[in-house]
Amino acid sequence: MSYCVNCGVELDATAAACPLCNTKVYNPNQPVATEVPTPYPTVKGAVEPVKAKEFTILMTIILLTTAVVCVLLNVFTIQIGRWSLYVVGICAMLWVFFIPLFFPEKTSIYTNLALNGLSIALFLALVSWLHPNNNWYEHIALPIVILGTLLLEIIFIFVFMLKSSMIVKAAVSMAAIAVICVATEMVIDLHLRGYFYLRWSAIVLTCCVVIDIILMTIYLQEGLRAEIRRRMHF
Ligand SMILES: [Zn+2]
Repeated sequence: MSYCVNCGVELDATAAACPLCNTKVYNPNQPVATEVPTPYPTVKGAVEPVKAKEFTILMTIILLTTAVVCVLLNVFTIQIGRWSLYVVGICAMLWVFFIPLFFPEKTSIYTNLALNGLSIALFLALVSWLHPNNNWYEHIALPIVILGTLLLEIIFIFVFMLKSSMIVKAAVSMAAIAVICVATEMVIDLHLRGYFYLRWSAIVLTCCVVIDIILMTIYLQEGLRAEIRRRMHF
């Protein structure tokens, strides 16, 4: 009987290395038995990762079942308005959001982003069709969704395509966030008041400008940049 010199675990006569800590077994009184079969399996057992196709089927069934059950409930039991259409819209939107996981090799991040924007626009169109007042869809929701999608596409082009430093990418993302917020407030203001005046987006804009100035200062100072890289491990 051998024991591991490192962790003390009792070892099988066929063990050439400790099964727990992988320390080599060396016992001059009892060499490793090679003739008898080892009690441990030689092939490592591993559960196969879930395939994209199986995940697609599962998520499609979950979302489809939810939508169908809600429509049936709406038609036969809880007949208050057309509430189930919201659920149907959300399920459809979620399905579109999951597309990159369903078809990981076939879709690009830019197509996914455009599809997500389109699905949000369609869902909001459904909501506006259920609540037809104030023209909020054409004047507020649709311009914001289009603008947000376009700006996110620009951010992703910067982050994924350009081989620029992490600091530059972060600065561009902050600037884009500021632009999205200012544009959102502008669209809402122009619709509700007819003129544009910076209010809440001014706070976001100020924060983003301050962060951007700090980031660009770090970027331009070689020593600071090296220190950040060392501390953040990138
Ligand atoms: Zn051991």
